[in-house]
Amino acid sequence: MTTEFIDIRTDEKEALEKAKRLILKGEVVAIPTETVYGLAANAFDEKAVEKIFAAKGRPQDNPLIVHISEMSQLDALVEEIPDKVKMLAKKYWPGPLTMIMKRSGKIPSVVSAGLDTVAVRMPKSEYARAIISFSGVPLAAPSANLSGSPSPTRAKYVLDDMNGRIPLIIDGGECEIGVESTVVSFAGEKPRLLRPGGITLEQLESVAGEVEVDRAVLNKLEKNATASSPGMKYKHYAPKADITVVKGSLESFCEYVKDKGDFFALCFDGEEKYFAKALSYGKIDDGKSQAKRIFDALRELDEMGAKKVYARCPDLKGMGLAVYNRLIRSAGFDIIEV
Ligand code: AMP
Ligand code: MG
Repeated sequence: MTTEFIDIRTDEKEALEKAKRLILKGEVVAIPTETVYGLAANAFDEKAVEKIFAAKGRPQDNPLIVHISEMSQLDALVEEIPDKVKMLAKKYWPGPLTMIMKRSGKIPSVVSAGLDTVAVRMPKSEYARAIISFSGVPLAAPSANLSGSPSPTRAKYVLDDMNGRIPLIIDGGECEIGVESTVVSFAGEKPRLLRPGGITLEQLESVAGEVEVDRAVLNKLEKNATASSPGMKYKHYAPKADITVVKGSLESFCEYVKDKGDFFALCFDGEEKYFAKALSYGKIDDGKSQAKRIFDALRELDEMGAKKVYARCPDLKGMGLAVYNRLIRSAGFDIIEV
């Protein structure tokens, strides 16, 4: 299959028309969103959704998020809309927040990996919403990377992973946020954070009251444990390089790595000078800047041929929680405290 590449910033009409035609034919199209690029297909079309799993090489027990452009599309997807979902939607949609509810019968079970729930999000990206509303159907989409690799925040990284596997990539420039959406489940008694992202825990609680944090956000799941979000089971976001996360001050980090031989330091802005080889992933006290850089930095480390990487650990406040959640998975939970 040849993969066509269109820039929606310069050829909007052509991009929308081609995307619509392919989506309604049951094909998969890579689209820009404000979080990361997505691999999108008609959420009502079971065969089309199966092609997403094939293109990504993703196990079918890892569910997808259904993307909508208007509130009115939500009714058809879920059994009922809990009040807290309405409140959060009012405040944070469109935006990087995914909410899980009981699934209606219209959504094929493959979208939700056989669960009785469905995850829904209204993206903030104008391009993403234009593609959804022009196509006229909600779009099921995971991140547009090969399963296990860092999520793509630029169209060129989508091309690296998806060339020859899907018919169309729509370039909408660099993603504003850089990590995936926050995922909160409303299928149980209390709201439960399954994945931290662009909307912080603090922001959620200011609207919805107490939100439980699933154990898997910060910890590795024990073997045989059931994941509330099946995606949490896999090593994820990993570059080719082997990563170790080192928790502690800059001083103790330097002390720890000083006799480690050949390695890259994945550090904060301004710290590069302390290491022979280093790449920074944002400002030390700014989780937002780290979120925007983390996946790019992981891919850049591969481009630079890094084999061993020691990473500085972010602070867990605000967006830092999302950054930490991705970083420890990319390291396969290899974390050292110094
Ligand atoms: P991605 O954005 O590529 O990481 O893929 C979507 C992620 O959303 C999955 O890996 C799950 O963690 C989560 N998710 C989607 N649907 C559900 C659901 N029904 N229940 C729990 N988690 C879900
Ligand atoms: Mg993903």
